[in-house]
Amino acid sequence: MKVFAYGLPRLGEKRQYKTLLERFWSGKISEHDLVKGLEEVEKERLSTYMAYADVFPSGELSRYDPMLDLTVGLGLIPARFRPYQDQGLRSYFDMARGASALEMTKWFNTNYHYLVPEWEDEPLSANPAFFVEQYKLAQALGAQNAWPSLIGPYTFLALSKKDGLPLSPDAMEALAEKLLPAYKVLLAALRQAGAPGLILHEPAFVLDEVPVPLVGYLYQELKAFPLYLLTYYEAVDFYPRLVELPVKGIALDLVAGKANWQAIRQYGFPDDKVLIAGLIDGRQVWRANLREKAAQVEELSRYAREIWLTTSAPLSFLPLTKAPETHIPKPVWERLSFAKEKLMELRTLAQALEGNPQAQAEVAASEALWQGEPLGIHPPTRARLQALTEADFQREVPYAERIKLQQQKLNLPPLPTTTIGSFPQTEDLRTLRKAYREGRVPEAEYQARIREKIAEVIRYQEELGLDVLVHGEFERSDMVEFFAERLEGFAITTQGWVLSYGSRVYRAPIIYGDVWRPAPMTVEEIAYAQSLTKKPVKGMLTGPVTILNWSYAPPHLSREEAAYQIALAIQDEVKDLEAAGIQVIQIDEPAFREGAPLKKKDWPAYFRWAVRAFRLASRAKPETQIHSHMCYSEFESILRYIWEMDFDVVSIEASRSKGTLVEEFRRFPQWDRQIGLGVYDIHSPAVPSVEHIAQVIEAARRVLPDALLWVNPDCGLKTRRWEEVTPALRHMVQAATAARMRVSP
Ligand code: GLN
Ligand code: ZN
Repeated sequence: MKVFAYGLPRLGEKRQYKTLLERFWSGKISEHDLVKGLEEVEKERLSTYMAYADVFPSGELSRYDPMLDLTVGLGLIPARFRPYQDQGLRSYFDMARGASALEMTKWFNTNYHYLVPEWEDEPLSANPAFFVEQYKLAQALGAQNAWPSLIGPYTFLALSKKDGLPLSPDAMEALAEKLLPAYKVLLAALRQAGAPGLILHEPAFVLDEVPVPLVGYLYQELKAFPLYLLTYYEAVDFYPRLVELPVKGIALDLVAGKANWQAIRQYGFPDDKVLIAGLIDGRQVWRANLREKAAQVEELSRYAREIWLTTSAPLSFLPLTKAPETHIPKPVWERLSFAKEKLMELRTLAQALEGNPQAQAEVAASEALWQGEPLGIHPPTRARLQALTEADFQREVPYAERIKLQQQKLNLPPLPTTTIGSFPQTEDLRTLRKAYREGRVPEAEYQARIREKIAEVIRYQEELGLDVLVHGEFERSDMVEFFAERLEGFAITTQGWVLSYGSRVYRAPIIYGDVWRPAPMTVEEIAYAQSLTKKPVKGMLTGPVTILNWSYAPPHLSREEAAYQIALAIQDEVKDLEAAGIQVIQIDEPAFREGAPLKKKDWPAYFRWAVRAFRLASRAKPETQIHSHMCYSEFESILRYIWEMDFDVVSIEASRSKGTLVEEFRRFPQWDRQIGLGVYDIHSPAVPSVEHIAQVIEAARRVLPDALLWVNPDCGLKTRRWEEVTPALRHMVQAATAARMRVSP
């Protein structure tokens, strides 16, 4: 039985990928050194593949993003980047991260971001160089079973845009005529180079409403090539048609895609194709019970003649290996499986199925691992969860009454001004935190320096004339990790980096047990900030849905249960902040929308518990004003769920979807909550003018009553420089003050 593996992270054991790219961008190394360095990373990756897998991809070591590789390979270069060819990697990076770079957006339901291809009217001119070179490199490095891998034509169309909009089915059909000839050039060149099989990623097959006739047409056109299709992240809704496509093999997600199982049982699997069975979870960090997996292979072999084993999804968004994480308690560590360990599991499973006694012993051990009591059980938390009633998900007093109590206490002007929480995290602060973490700066000194920063930022906001202040979040490196470090039930890795986009990485915490809060997490800093001013200071928390969505999920709890446990911990913090005299508490939920399942039919179930988790976390006294903040998302079609969260005020990033959002409010007249539609885009270093901000405020006033509107930037200011923040906020306060004159009381 063959093992097929794909998506091994490109970061490298020592994050060399990141270092190389960043050194090239800052001019420290030449293009030649960059390419040579990346070859070394590829060598490392291929040797890992060779140790465990029979077939695996070449060409995965993108220079920035695989969507961009295909875009460039097809020659889909928007006019503003031309002439492209003469400038090699510099033009490539121009498209990725230059001043007029391609739009970046989230890759399916992961935390990775890809570059969105833009269609223009020019003809395409394909250039297979990158893919062919990478294939040849793999061959030269002895990886004979590395096959070229590309994003598939349908996924490419489904994720690309024309005139700033996703393609309609008709537009896709029309553009297929341009795409196909260029696509064939790439595939033909790879065949010419000697590749026995070609791997095409088609994750867009699992989305809703796939135009199946178009898919059929695309693959009919490509039937001369020996294609192996990969689908993942969910089940494919058009299974009977899928398995009829003229290809050699098809990968199915048999972990997240439960419906794929039913389809196989109902329709079988054709004899002339390889079933690439995605049995080992490629999205989570837990070792599999291989006994269960072996039984699943046996069931599949009743339907499919040839089976290859693989992961349910590419390994790209798992940390590379758990080997360096020896500080994690042994029972947790033993149960972990990152990308490399997933490859070992695949190999063990294949060997066990072939009768290898040592592998069979490992299968038995993996089963034993998951028998007995789950890790990190905390009976008091379980009891609290058990005892929850409907009342725990409701605030005692409805919004219309709460708002009066809050206004009496806060006494805010119309169009109040505030910020989203963080202020610039400057180099000195990062150096300080690093020194503190490494034990070179004592606790007391670190705390004192943070307090100085807080005192400065309070004075600064008072001088600017903002109405609701924040403490600046200087003590936090990351809005999820900060809480994960202070909650029980979480393990934190030291090297578990994962790519978010380009060279940007993050480390997701791992939830392994019941989550609970041993002690207050934020009260000291917030109470200190409040003690320095008469203006209200917002308590700043990360919401349960975001903490869950940006962590690896626990093995023993449903996402709903885990969300409620985290919510209870946040609720404890809310109560302590109230007791410390804090009147406004913001609970950030930037990942609220992105946690939604890929298929719309699963949305109601997700949003039901996500909304309830937020409500549980935010069950404050009526006079406490609860804020939330959301960003990085399209809010269309979820306004209703946002409203059901029952906060008092929300700030949302609306710079990208302003026009449509306004339309949404028209279609949802029940909206009665206060809202700050970000008045300028903090992701850009440009300082917005007073007039620009005034226009945004006026646009909002045309849609929503004055009494509901707040004035704030669209996200936290952490990544900006003080020189940008100061004039921007000054302009914002000026524009708000001027607009107040026009507001009827
Ligand atoms: N309060 C956080 C901050 O200001 C919110 C960050 C976010 O929305 N991503 O940084
Ligand atoms: Zn934000």
